[in-house]
Amino acid sequence: MIESFNYARNPKIIFGAGKFGEIASIIQGFGKTVLIVTGGRSFQSSNDWDSFMNSLDAASVKHFHIAVEREPSPELVDHAVAEFRGKGVEVVVACGGGSVVDAGKAISAMLPTGESVLDYLEGVGTGASHDGSKAPFIAVPTTAGTGSEATKNAVLSRVGSDGFKKSLRHDNFVPDVALLDPSLTLSCPPHVTAACGLDAFTQLLESYVSNKASPMTDALARSGLEFVGRCLIPACTDGATDVNARAGMAYAALMSGITLANAGLGVVHGLASPIGGRFDIPHGVACGTLIGAATRLTIKKLMGEHGVEHPALRKYANIGFLLHGTQGRDVAEGCEMLIEKVDEWIETLSVPRLSAYDIQEEDLDDIISETGNKNNPAPLDKDEISTVLRMRF
Ligand code: NAD
Repeated sequence: MIESFNYARNPKIIFGAGKFGEIASIIQGFGKTVLIVTGGRSFQSSNDWDSFMNSLDAASVKHFHIAVEREPSPELVDHAVAEFRGKGVEVVVACGGGSVVDAGKAISAMLPTGESVLDYLEGVGTGASHDGSKAPFIAVPTTAGTGSEATKNAVLSRVGSDGFKKSLRHDNFVPDVALLDPSLTLSCPPHVTAACGLDAFTQLLESYVSNKASPMTDALARSGLEFVGRCLIPACTDGATDVNARAGMAYAALMSGITLANAGLGVVHGLASPIGGRFDIPHGVACGTLIGAATRLTIKKLMGEHGVEHPALRKYANIGFLLHGTQGRDVAEGCEMLIEKVDEWIETLSVPRLSAYDIQEEDLDDIISETGNKNNPAPLDKDEISTVLRMRF
């Protein structure tokens, strides 16, 4: 029996080492004037950037450029839209981490209207509904983690005591093209590779066990999780210069974006928003530091309430066996294997604790009051969420 489900859409996916060399011709499929969004400096000082500029000039493509230094705010998007609206931008290209891809996605969505993006942000805006019209958008991720190249939302934030981390969302905001060239991620240092890789893992696991999962998202999530199992540790350690390990993580991140967009997420992402809005903690670290504790508590709760009969427990166990490269049928054993593997990764990758970002006991109540369970297979109550957080102080 297959329960009813919806599946939004995928971008056109172009995947492979060296594929960034095709970017100028892909851009020309949309027009002759492009707005390029990048991160700070590293990409612009690379040979890839020089070749990119030369190929645009050779094809007489007019280009504007904006750099995004940190996770994007509504103000950044509004300023970019004010600056480039009216300049004939026919396509937006974002080359960078999830922050840059989200900035580009939001700019492409707001260029046609010119209104403030804040009005359209879930939870904090005026509740205005976007009609989905946008400038065509090409996403070129240079980290392997968020999967934003395949999702329909852009996350914008304001950090501080009245901070927030909220999404602009529409089915049409799925990028038109996702160009994944794993060689662009070779320059990611180990701590960025680890945080982003654990973000992808969290998204894959949460969407796999989500109440909204379908057989379609299950197949993609399992496929992504298989590559995380094989490539996460090598990509962060002795395989960091191996483009195959990088390709495995880029693929896993892409799958995580597709599955999160269509199956939703769980309590770790319910926590990552209020934590990320209040504290300057990288999104991947927030997810990576909490996924072990949240999985342990969710499994414990499901077992207490349903024995080993709950379908999500069978799924957790399957991933435990998958990540250990073994086969098995015992649900409790598979779940334990999963928890052990995640603990091992967190230890090996030296994932920082929450206290490293100045998060204190007295912040707990505010964080918990804003935390939702999303589609976690067992909704955790306030005490259980508090336990998850305390386990990672
Ligand atoms: P990021 O984009 O903030 O980048 C992290 C750091 O890595 C930055 O300092 C950046 O300059 C650097 N970097 C990027 N590429 C590099 C490269 N190739 N070599 C060296 N350094 C490089 O981090 P991220 O984890 O990719 O993105 C995080 C953002 O994505 C958060 O705002 C998060 O909320 C958002 N997000 C969005 C979605 C979505 O579906 N839209 C999903 C998950 C997360």
